[in-house]
Amino acid sequence: MNGSRGVAVDVLVVGAGPAGLSAAITAAEHGKRVLVLDQGLRPGGQIWRHRDAAALPVGARAMLERARTTGVRIASGARVVDAISAGELIVDFRGRVDRQRSGALIIATGAKERFLPFPGWTLPGVVGVGGLQALLKSGLSLSGARVVIAGTGPLLFPVAATVARAGAELLLVAEQASWSGLAAFGARLVSKPMALRQAVVYRWAFRNAPLRTSSWVTAAEGYGRLRRVIMHERGRSSVIDCDWLATGAGLVPNTEVAQVVGCALDVDAIRVDALQATSVAGVWAAGECTGVKGDAAAIAEGAVAGHAAAGEESTANGRALQRDRDAGRGFAKRLAATFAPRAELLQLAHADTVICRCEDVRRGDIDPAWTQRQAKLWTRMGMGECQGAVCGPACAALFNWEQNVARPPIGAPRCGEWGEELGETRDERRETRGGGALSS
Ligand SMILES: Cc1cc2nc3c(=O)[nH]c(=O)nc-3n(C[C@H](O)[C@H](O)[C@H](O)COP(=O)(O)OP(=O)(O)OC[C@H]3O[C@@H](n4cnc5c(N)ncnc54)[C@H](O)[C@@H]3O)c2cc1C
Repeated sequence: MNGSRGVAVDVLVVGAGPAGLSAAITAAEHGKRVLVLDQGLRPGGQIWRHRDAAALPVGARAMLERARTTGVRIASGARVVDAISAGELIVDFRGRVDRQRSGALIIATGAKERFLPFPGWTLPGVVGVGGLQALLKSGLSLSGARVVIAGTGPLLFPVAATVARAGAELLLVAEQASWSGLAAFGARLVSKPMALRQAVVYRWAFRNAPLRTSSWVTAAEGYGRLRRVIMHERGRSSVIDCDWLATGAGLVPNTEVAQVVGCALDVDAIRVDALQATSVAGVWAAGECTGVKGDAAAIAEGAVAGHAAAGEESTANGRALQRDRDAGRGFAKRLAATFAPRAELLQLAHADTVICRCEDVRRGDIDPAWTQRQAKLWTRMGMGECQGAVCGPACAALFNWEQNVARPPIGAPRCGEWGEELGETRDERRETRGGGALSS
């Protein structure tokens, strides 16, 4: 972010994914001075930022071009770590910590992967589903490697397609949801022909691999590195020798920035009204941080938030925009219902299974009757490098804890291979952080 320290800004957007870009462009088209901060190395969010410009879908290229022509400034490698107030954020610009003020704030921080611990989940070779995709896009070679993908949600399909196209031996794609749930979800996609077409294209790409529903990993085994996974496949146990396991229990909204700004949550997503306004005056939120719903809905919500933050509430309330936004919310509910992790996944961790990998806290160290804060105080759970980014959502599911304890510095780079959930390789993270340490 060369020379733009504390620049004068009307609208500050956090997150340069589909929602943030859409919000930024919309506000800029109303004549506002807009700055977008994103901790990634390139704009585009989880879905687009790893691709070269030439490989981007037409819509993504058009969006980035519109951002350029409308004068939106984008600061990559800029991580929001804390907030003085809604109008003043603390930002780590590649190792240099500074304040950024704005008249209006739009939070578009997307979603992150959720991992539910099971025996062996910390072995090298076990990675997040999105993490494996990020590694592949960043140049990892999987040619000839034996890969199992086991998790839940629509993300399994594009990742399986990417793995198959990369020349890996994809042994199995296991979805924990039931076949009937998946079929009902697929049937509703008839009203979203683009999504349906995309799903068919992905399935064709990994047509040589079996796709099993009601199936999940119960344990990963190996000495020093993954060698095999123990699967529960439709009621039966099986063993699969493999080199990589990509796993995850779906996506959860990334609400840390909203939490340090003081926005209220609805369960695990940022609470917003019809104009994407949060509970804090002058702060709007859009995209998957308000509920996991896909890129089309994120773009619609971004546009609503952009109009509203620019003071154009009647445009934000426009019928077509609200219809798109509502369709996205309906889709989010169906996604959550279809791909909710089943109860069996919450029982996989044994007493000696690591829950917090940064601080080496095991399930047996935690009394489920504690609050998350008590667990932190007595075990240091969630106090390591990732600041609870991985164990927080896991414990919320395992122990029914509330997700309202973001602790600065937020958005910390993730630890180990699970860190790839942010879509950055370790090399990218090093580059993003530069040589500087946090010194706020
Ligand atoms: C790991 C992962 C992989 C995915 N892969 C695919 C895929 O292959 N295909 C597909 O269709 N969908 C994919 N999705 C879903 C897809 O990301 C969403 O449908 C869509 O991109 C959501 O857009 P968004 O703008 O809400 O969030 P995102 O695209 O996630 O953008 C959020 C942005 O906020 C930034 N951010 C977060 N916290 C901070 C902070 N503290 N400071 C600064 N910046 C911050 C992030 O760097 C990110 O760029 C993936 C999701 C995840 C989590």
